[in-house]
Amino acid sequence: MSTSATPAPHPTPESVAEFRENLDAVRARIDAAAQRAGRDASEIRLLPVSKTVPSERLRLAIEAGMTGLGENKVQEVSRKAQELSDLDLHWAVIGPLQTNKARDVARYAHEFQALDRIKVAEALERRLEAEDRTLDVYVQVNTSAEEAKSGLNPDELPEFLATLPQFSRLRVRGLMTLAVHSEDVEQVRGCFQLLRQLRDDARESTPELIGPGELSMGMSGDFELAIAEGTNVVRVGQAIFGARPVLPKQK
Ligand SMILES: *Cc1c(COP(=O)(O)O)cnc(C)c1O
Repeated sequence: MSTSATPAPHPTPESVAEFRENLDAVRARIDAAAQRAGRDASEIRLLPVSKTVPSERLRLAIEAGMTGLGENKVQEVSRKAQELSDLDLHWAVIGPLQTNKARDVARYAHEFQALDRIKVAEALERRLEAEDRTLDVYVQVNTSAEEAKSGLNPDELPEFLATLPQFSRLRVRGLMTLAVHSEDVEQVRGCFQLLRQLRDDARESTPELIGPGELSMGMSGDFELAIAEGTNVVRVGQAIFGARPVLPKQK
């Protein structure tokens, strides 16, 4: 329970019914945004992002109908996948990966959305081989040119995609990005448009390298805009799970 007097921007659900309400509300917003964009909402997958939410509360969320969960830290996925191993869940790692954590991703995750280094692809391939598994991957692109953000520079993408076919256990699904964190809608839109342009270019020049060419873009604060710009996966945390405590910046 929050002890703060200021109301949280996203209230924290405490029961299955409250999780269902949040989920329904987000789905309704997705449907409405798709309709406004003249798109079929079935082309848009909602990936709930459960980082910092403890496993006991995740059980309520899962009972409310969530089957896939996104986490940005590998340790958190390994821990929760084990704590919830009695359930049939689809885990997505959406944050950057150190090669020494590749084994846990290969073991517990079904998709990895932050691929931006060949060394990581190599480590994953080796570990996936050992686990006899495959992994869906999205190549992360830095569309905001912010130093602190992960992802390839846009001009590095073609060459990077060209190296991926050698990794037979990685299944390329498309591209992922985080838009600039800004009040300026046009700046945010620019990030989404750039990712779509890169996908379209890849489809045109090397369609065999981009798989289904999906776009993973849009979070709680900007998913409607991402839908207008063609996203296929929205990664939504706080609008479903409630506001996260602000943590000190991590190294
Ligand atoms: C945390 C996170 C999200 C979800 O952000 P919310 O603001 O909680 O919706 C999406 N993508 C990535 C990569 C994240 O780390």
